[in-house]
Amino acid sequence: NRSILLVERPTGMPSDQNFKLVEKEEIPRLHAGEVLIQTIYLSVDPYMRGRMSGRKSYIEPFALNEVLSGGIVGQVIESKDGNYKVGDFVEGRLGWSDYNVAKSHQIRKLDPSIAPISTALGIVGMPGLTAYFGLLDIGNPKEGETVVVSGAAGAVGSTVGQIAKLKGCKVIGIVGTEEKCQYLKEDLHFDEVINYKTDNIKDKVKQYTPDGVDIYFDNVGGEISDEVMKRINYKARIILCGQISSYNATEVVYGPRIQGLLVQKSALMKGFIVGDYADNHEEGLKQLGEWVNSGKLQYRENIVEGLEKAPHAFIGLFKGDNLGKQLVKVSDY
Ligand code: NDP
Repeated sequence: NRSILLVERPTGMPSDQNFKLVEKEEIPRLHAGEVLIQTIYLSVDPYMRGRMSGRKSYIEPFALNEVLSGGIVGQVIESKDGNYKVGDFVEGRLGWSDYNVAKSHQIRKLDPSIAPISTALGIVGMPGLTAYFGLLDIGNPKEGETVVVSGAAGAVGSTVGQIAKLKGCKVIGIVGTEEKCQYLKEDLHFDEVINYKTDNIKDKVKQYTPDGVDIYFDNVGGEISDEVMKRINYKARIILCGQISSYNATEVVYGPRIQGLLVQKSALMKGFIVGDYADNHEEGLKQLGEWVNSGKLQYRENIVEGLEKAPHAFIGLFKGDNLGKQLVKVSDY
């Protein structure tokens, strides 16, 4: 049973040295009410960077020299819980290991007939729910409104843009590669795309938002967001989902003070975490599953093979290596 430990807290960009692969002979033994799960897919997520630093946040930091944990999709291979049988597919927040022992409250059963099991870590899972509740509850998009989304080709962003299109909005996506621009325009039918690494962000945002910005779904923060927020309309909604551009910062990053603009525009700026909507997750998963099943929502996955590649895949999130949801495939099923 192999596992990946956090052995050093990253300073700045994480590196391979922060992680260690260990191997133990034994596979965990089961007690009543527990199931043994073989990991099939493991999710790497930007929020994990926060947990790797020792700082207190809405979620406890990872302990040093302990197995990392995150979203896992796996298959039950032994069960001492009457609600689960061998062969069931499940998702839960479990260890970065080949095998995990879990109690039923830590996992949810998956129905592979609704969507492929890997989507339980992406579009029909935590990132999809983040897009769904952030956009619909805080953004409240109306037909004809202009929505800008940053980090637009990732797990959350690509879902936000598509749901905004379903609601009849004009959607502009901001990303870091030409391949991502092409994907958003041609496959997901975004109205406009901006490559923040090669385009003049200020000029492009202005050009593509002649009627201003009604909703900004912010996954990245920093200068990209500064430029978008200058364009907000009366009663605009700014949804603060993530600030990935500063997750590796070693000093506090200051930006322009836009409070005056929020006053002038009677605008709303609101942060949230997907856990705020825990009571409604089931409803969200049902809707997302239906949209995926009926082809209304599309998704991509970037899959690397091998548990040992998980740190590399995680680090890749901060370099923009992933188009769509970044996953690690740990075993076949
Ligand atoms: P993504 O799949 O979007 O992967 C991260 C992407 O961020 C990269 O592919 C890269 O794309 C982009 N990126 C990396 N560094 C920078 C940078 N310096 N400036 C601009 N873009 C950058 O991840 P997720 O969809 O899982 O997460 C997206 C955001 O949502 C993150 O900020 C995350 O923390 C947040 N989040 C918040 C949740 C909540 O509850 N509030 C829950 C889940 C996620 P590119 O090539 O375009 O640069």
